[in-house]
Amino acid sequence: AVPVSILAGTGRAAELGVLFRRGDALQRLEGVRTIVFDKTGTLTEGAPTLVSRHAVSGGDPDETLRAVAAAEAGSEHPIARALEAASDGPRPAVSAVESVTGRGLRARVGGDELLVGSPRLMEESGIDLAPLADALEAVEARAETPVLVARGGRLAALYGVADPVKPSAKEAIDALHGAGLRVALLSGDRPRVAEAVARALGVDEARGGLLPADKTEALADIAREHGPVAFVGDGINDAPALAAAEVGLAIGTGTDIAIEAGDVVLVSGDVTGVATAREVSHRTMANIR
Ligand code: ADP
Ligand code: MG
Repeated sequence: AVPVSILAGTGRAAELGVLFRRGDALQRLEGVRTIVFDKTGTLTEGAPTLVSRHAVSGGDPDETLRAVAAAEAGSEHPIARALEAASDGPRPAVSAVESVTGRGLRARVGGDELLVGSPRLMEESGIDLAPLADALEAVEARAETPVLVARGGRLAALYGVADPVKPSAKEAIDALHGAGLRVALLSGDRPRVAEAVARALGVDEARGGLLPADKTEALADIAREHGPVAFVGDGINDAPALAAAEVGLAIGTGTDIAIEAGDVVLVSGDVTGVATAREVSHRTMANIR
């Protein structure tokens, strides 16, 4: 009787847009106590737009943005698309573009080194943030993701990027709370941005500023404290956490690498599918007993 019930359960879930790639995930999901979400592209649309620009005194944020857009043209990160879309006019030639995992990128333009990315990237590269400290504070207070730019070893500009939450994110989290689960959020974005999104959605616990390997470690921490965890994610960076969690749920509109690493695929990318998956798992296991 067990395999038949499991088949019926996975079939029912599939009709609702939730694909169990492994039958045992239906069993394991029932024991999960905390659902942990990635932020960018999972709870948010993952299609950010540039909403503010700031340059050091005497600098031109639009000119700097043309060099940034040239450097970001080959990047897959959603922030790269926001920066490219916001720039216009002729772009300078860039070379030696290198991505810096979880931080941004490095390139050469007109004989200078160009750095584009997080405050962490600037700090690690010895760039003084003081000339834009007030603007950085204001950007973070509005829960925008800061993108800093340095050229020739000096800070040049700061852009604020905003990524709206998915319309169904709040409903998904309310449904999981209704089922008695804890909900947490992990992000590579700045802690203040992660906390602002968590507050807006009623998430119980948020951790930001995480590098990809830190996400796996944070999952293990949460599991030690609260019992088995499921992880929901969309990005290349999320693949290790999807594999490490008791159950990994991949956003179907996300990257192929994340989908490969998941036990469950939410086909349309709608996060209410997490509550659906959990509900089907609960009913199926209740039938078996
Ligand atoms: P997340 O998707 O959770 O934000 P990532 O590890 O992809 O995590 O990125 C972490 C941070 O690194 C981003 O919030 C951003 O500040 C910076 N970053 C990463 N890639 C880029 C890029 N191509 N251009 C600018 N900033 C980037
Ligand atoms: Mg993501």
